Amino acid sequence: MSTSSRFAPMPNDEGYFGPYGGQLVPPHLKKAMDDINVAYEEIRQRDDFQQELASLFADYVGRPSPIFHARRLSEQLGGAQIHLKREDLNHTGAHKINHCLGEALLAKFMGKSKVIAETGAGQHGVALATACALVGIPCEIHMGQVDIEKEHPNVTKMKILGCKLVPVTRGAATLKEAVDSAFEEYLNDPTNYIYAIGSVVGPHPFPKMVRDFQSIIGKEAREQFQAKHGRLPDHVAACVGGGSNAMGIFTAFLNDDAVHLVGVEPSGEGLDKPGRHSATLSKGKPGEIHGMACYVLENEDGTPSAVHSIASGLDYPGVGPQHSYLKDIGRVDYQTATDEECLNAFMTLSRVEGIIPALESAHAVAWAIRVAPTLPKDQHILINLSGRGDKDADYVAAKLGL
Ligand SMILES: *Cc1c(COP(=O)(O)O)cnc(C)c1O
Repeated sequence: MSTSSRFAPMPNDEGYFGPYGGQLVPPHLKKAMDDINVAYEEIRQRDDFQQELASLFADYVGRPSPIFHARRLSEQLGGAQIHLKREDLNHTGAHKINHCLGEALLAKFMGKSKVIAETGAGQHGVALATACALVGIPCEIHMGQVDIEKEHPNVTKMKILGCKLVPVTRGAATLKEAVDSAFEEYLNDPTNYIYAIGSVVGPHPFPKMVRDFQSIIGKEAREQFQAKHGRLPDHVAACVGGGSNAMGIFTAFLNDDAVHLVGVEPSGEGLDKPGRHSATLSKGKPGEIHGMACYVLENEDGTPSAVHSIASGLDYPGVGPQHSYLKDIGRVDYQTATDEECLNAFMTLSRVEGIIPALESAHAVAWAIRVAPTLPKDQHILINLSGRGDKDADYVAAKLGL
C-alpha cells in the first residue's frame, strides 16, 4: 500500500480502525446507526451539502481560523518556534462548532424533526444549540442535575438559544446518566430523531463523521503553514479528551511521516493516582465503552474508573477508536500534562501573548512549554488552540487567589 493511501480508507465498512471502533450496541440501535451511515455517505457527496457547510464555516464560524506565531513565548522559552491554530476565535469560542454544524446540517438534509444530545460541562450543548438555532431544527439536550447546578453560564446560554433542556436526576445525575437518558429519548423514534455525539467517540459512524467535520482544521493549517513558511511544522500538538480537536488537526498530517504528532492527555494530580487523572491512552487498556472498542480506564471489576482533570472537557474514561489505533501503530505520540502544568500554561499564554486559552487547550500548550527549550530554534511546533478560556477565568482566578 502506498504511503499516501495508508490512512485514506479508515475506518473500514464496519467502522473499525484496526481492532477499535465498531458498533457494540443492541440490534435496534445498530440499525439506526447503519441508517445514519448510509445517509451520511450519500449526503456528504452532494454539492449542495458541501457548499452550504463551506459557506457556514466561512461566514458564520469565521473560517479559516488564523495561525499565530507566538514570538514572545518562543523567545522566552529559547528553543523551538511555537505557532497556534486559533480555533478559540471561532464563533462560540471553540472547535466544537465545526462538528455541531455538520451534524445539524446533516439532520436537516436527512429531514429529521429533532436533534438529541447529552452534555457534561455544557460546551457540547451550547455549540449544538447554536448550530440548531442557525439551521432551524428543534434541539433537546439532556444534562445531569448536578452539572446543571455547576455550569450556570452554559445552562443559561442553552436556554437563550432555545433548546429544550432536560434535567436528569437519576443516579449520580452527571454525564453518564445524561447519556442514558438522551439515548432512551432517541430510541423512542430513531426514524425522525437523530443523536448528535460531541466527540470522535461512540458507535460507528460517529467517530468517522465527527472527524470528517473537524478535519477542516488540519486541512487549513497544513496549507497556511506551507504558504507562510514553505515547509511543514516539525511537531503538531493537541489536547485529547474524546479526541475530536486532535483528529481535526492530525488528519491532514497523518501521511507526512516527518511530522511528529503529539496528543496530550490530562495527568491531573498524577499518573500514579488512579481516579485522579484522565490519561486513557497512557494508563488504560483496550476495552469497550459507549458502543465502541477503544482504550478505557477501568477499575479492577471492569467498570469505567472515576476520572479527573482540571479541564472538564477532558475527563472521559474512554477515547476515540482512531486514537487507540494510532497509538498502537506508533503514528501519534501520546504525552501528558498535569493540572499544575496546565494552570501554569494558562497563565503564561495569557501574560506573554494576551491569549487566554481554555484549560483543555492549555494542556497542549503545557507540553510545548516543556519541550520547546530542548529543541533547536529552527524547529516549529504547531498547537491546536482548541478553545478560549473565558469559561475558565473565574475558576482560575479563585484557584490562584487573583
Ligand atoms: C470539549 C473540548 C475539548 C475536548 O474534546 P476533544 O473531543 O478531545 O477535542 C478540548 N478543548 C475544548 C476547548 C473543548 O471545549
